Amino acid sequence: MEDTPKIKDTTKGFVRKRTLQATLQEVSQQMYARNKELHDTNRTLSLLSVIDSVALESQVSLNMVCEHIAEAITQATGYPFVGLLTQSRKDLKLSGWSSGSEGQADVAAVFEQPLHVEIANEWFDNFQSAKLFSLDGLSDHQIGELVNRTAEDVHTLRQFIGLGSVYIVKLHARRTLVGLLVVGFTQPPEQVTASDTALLNRLGESIGVALDNKLLFEENQRVLHQLELSNQKLKTLDETKDEFISMASHQLRTPLTSVKGYVSMVLEGDAGEINSTQKKLLEQSFASSQRMVYLISDLLNLSRLRTGKFIIEAKPTNLADVIESEVEQLRASAAGRNLTLTYKKPKKFPMLMMDETKIRQVIMNFSDNAIYYTPSGGKIELELEETAKEVRFTVNDNGIGIPKDEQHHLFGKFYRAKNAQKARPDGTGLGLFMAKKVIAAQGGAIIFKSTVGKGSTFGFSFSKEKLKLPVSQPEQ
Ligand code: ADP
Repeated sequence: MEDTPKIKDTTKGFVRKRTLQATLQEVSQQMYARNKELHDTNRTLSLLSVIDSVALESQVSLNMVCEHIAEAITQATGYPFVGLLTQSRKDLKLSGWSSGSEGQADVAAVFEQPLHVEIANEWFDNFQSAKLFSLDGLSDHQIGELVNRTAEDVHTLRQFIGLGSVYIVKLHARRTLVGLLVVGFTQPPEQVTASDTALLNRLGESIGVALDNKLLFEENQRVLHQLELSNQKLKTLDETKDEFISMASHQLRTPLTSVKGYVSMVLEGDAGEINSTQKKLLEQSFASSQRMVYLISDLLNLSRLRTGKFIIEAKPTNLADVIESEVEQLRASAAGRNLTLTYKKPKKFPMLMMDETKIRQVIMNFSDNAIYYTPSGGKIELELEETAKEVRFTVNDNGIGIPKDEQHHLFGKFYRAKNAQKARPDGTGLGLFMAKKVIAAQGGAIIFKSTVGKGSTFGFSFSKEKLKLPVSQPEQ
């Protein structure tokens, strides 16, 4: 009788122990599962951070990025083969791979030849983003055909890597296929775990973006490089053009000077008396040669501006006389166009430090324009004034004027207003551009005012202080 409770106690204790054991086992299984999950998450996170950091590395090429990523995956997971294929036109080519196999050198030798997979495969067209393929039933020859390699190559790979299945993940970015992640397993498909495929699917998303970024970056670099090359070519072409202009202008100037010289000799009667018709014609020819001299100087100065050889050579100049001599040269052409040309020459005018040749050209340009852009019967007035602080030169005409909406373009290189092209088809659009440069280079300001159909005023002003003669220079 006394024994019965004892037996009962023992049975109870045994049951409790079993229950405890079962609970313990369950808890430790749960812990194991949690641990595994944590391990998987950690592995995924560290691989994602490797992918991110490799892709951000701007010095690294696309192939290097693929290799780094493949290596990081094999190291973290121990998968026997990881390869990354990237888009190249209609193919996918193996851009980086890693294998934990023994025969690295032999495997590397097989991959030395580029490995291509054609995209014209129906698998690429469907929506499935990843697939597990069994390699068991496939011969070396069949696999070789899929990846464009010989059966011997496949045999070598199989010998060293020995794969039972392959998991392929399509890599997408901006809704286009940028590549494939190919992972080989030794085991057959049914033994590949869900956590492995989940990991690879997650990695695939990031690798797709990383490769796309890299491809875009490389494309940008390529375009940039090409732009730099064509820029360099254009620069060389430009320099050649400048050299040519400079050389041609020099060559043209010499014969032109002698043409001008001889015409002026004949005009002055050095070759015998000439009648009034001959004089008129010779005057025209002299004015044209003079215009050509200025045109050549414009071209020469233009190329000097670009090559940094445009220099102002200031010397004491009597501006009032310079203008007068230019006006004398223009009289014939103004009269020929039935225009009244007047010059209000000041009685007294200070000597100024100026680049006479260049300022002469500006005066000629403004006046010549006024003659060409003023219809027959018009009036052109040149005026030189001196105020307490300034000197001002203006050319006024009552010609065609410049439309308001085009005025801001004037003084730009080669710019010609639309109404001017009819009035003077042979203009260059260089005169005003050079005039502005010449005036600005000597510290002056351009004067400009125009009303279409009514006329224009072109000129310049200088502060007297800026152009005054050095103390040692005697005034004329
Ligand atoms: P070009 O006279 O050879 O065309 P310019 O540089 O001397 O070149 O002049 C640039 C443009 O400015 C001319 O094409 C013309 O449209 C305008 N222009 C210059 N001077 C006058 C003027 N006096 N009257 C009307 N338009 C003018």
